[in-house]
Amino acid sequence: MAIERTLSIIKPDAVKKNVVGKILSRFEDADLNISAMRFALLSKDDAAGFYAVHKERPFFNDLVEFMTSGPVCIQVLEGEDAIKKNRELMGATDPKQADAGTIRADFAESIDANAVHGSDSSENAAIEIAYFFPSMNVYRR
Ligand code: ADP
Ligand code: MG
Repeated sequence: MAIERTLSIIKPDAVKKNVVGKILSRFEDADLNISAMRFALLSKDDAAGFYAVHKERPFFNDLVEFMTSGPVCIQVLEGEDAIKKNRELMGATDPKQADAGTIRADFAESIDANAVHGSDSSENAAIEIAYFFPSMNVYRR
């Protein structure tokens, strides 16, 4: 299996709940390395640009509103099969459907406030990492 990178965002609900460290531990305990990280308060344009693939969806405006409602903590995670591994750690988009022990089952309230974002493919991971981090800021092992 290949070493991959994926873009992770700890969303405003989880930052407000003060569980950033607990969520980061899930990544580290699963052998995902944190290769870059920063907090940001996204503007509407930042959030709309990031979620541009969803701009025709009925929930788009609510999603942009939510993602700009407070600070987020953005990471690059690196490791074997990182994209799929992170999606497994996250659990289903709707926390009510998420498997026990996943981040969304343990820390999220609703499909809107669902604690974390994770890239869904290597193509999107590359686009999303470049959206937030200049390559010089991503630590390489
Ligand atoms: P994921 O974050 O699991 O990759 P999607 O890419 O499908 O999910 O959607 C992006 C985000 O948009 C979700 O994390 C969630 O916050 C929000 N979202 C998705 N579907 C809905 C929905 N039906 N109603 C409200 N919000 C939604
Ligand atoms: Mg997605």
